[in-house]
Amino acid sequence: MNHILTLLSLGIALTFMAQKKKTDIAKTQLMEHLSVLAHDSMEGRETGTIGLEKAARYLITHYKKIGLKPYAANGSYRQWYKLPYVEDGMTTDKASNIIGMIEGESKPEEFVVISAHYDHIGKTATDVYNGADDDGSGTAALLAIANHLMEEKKQGRGLSRSIVFIAFSGEEKGLWGSEFFSDHPTFSLKKTTADINIDMIGRIDTERNKADTMNYVYVVGHNKLSSDLHPLLDETNAFGHQLVLDYKFDSPFDLERIYYRSDHYNFARKGVPVLFFYDGMLLGDYHQLTDEIEKITWELYKKRVDFITDLLKNFANRTNMLKRDIPLND
Ligand SMILES: [Zn+2]
Repeated sequence: MNHILTLLSLGIALTFMAQKKKTDIAKTQLMEHLSVLAHDSMEGRETGTIGLEKAARYLITHYKKIGLKPYAANGSYRQWYKLPYVEDGMTTDKASNIIGMIEGESKPEEFVVISAHYDHIGKTATDVYNGADDDGSGTAALLAIANHLMEEKKQGRGLSRSIVFIAFSGEEKGLWGSEFFSDHPTFSLKKTTADINIDMIGRIDTERNKADTMNYVYVVGHNKLSSDLHPLLDETNAFGHQLVLDYKFDSPFDLERIYYRSDHYNFARKGVPVLFFYDGMLLGDYHQLTDEIEKITWELYKKRVDFITDLLKNFANRTNMLKRDIPLND
């Protein structure tokens, strides 16, 4: 046998395997992070309180441990901002977004953002709103994805573009953290191909009564700012995932106005293509004391995280940035 040909075919086979391997995030990581973030000791992570600060410190500890590059300003993970107003019960007038980065191999000056909000709605005199799904699920996913991508980079499978991980605060108060960030970005939004925002992906929508309840995710924003989004969602899904991608909240008649209700919106208003991943929980335990970790559907949660990670890789590695049908408005 011709050994040049053998090496050549081995090379092709290895390249193929590297590209075709579906992401497999460790469920134990999601469990580990969520059990801390949604614990009573985090006091419901309300912006302006010590609970939020405890969560911020937890995130920074893990950003460091994973090896993310600080990407706020002055070599820091923290982007501080002054709260627009201080409410009763708040003990500080400032909060921070936690920003870290994994540098791209061949296009380090182009970015894909993955975001989730780490704040929630706090506590009462007797009870804590743990916000396991909202948005402990997105925040834990952020850490698990960062760890996974860093492990792959160490094994020589780094991504072409840089990936920026942003844990936003102030979301529940009115998207404060992402509003501040989008007006004071710490890297170029023009060079940001997309923001993938995760806010609530650990549960099954109590109102959803379909055969696919163990295999769906709502995807919001797919038809808004870039006509590349839909084909790339389909392409990634065909990569062994086969999730039901439900676009119902992209209907112009969506009365809940979901597209405007989480942090991706502050990227969208700057012209950056966005996708928002969401489980659809609006009734049931939404903003209730019962949004607890015991109600997380781990298998489905993990499936969604695997899909989101492969989509992120797809965005990071493709030749061109996503086409912008509507240009940046600044
Ligand atoms: Zn939320």
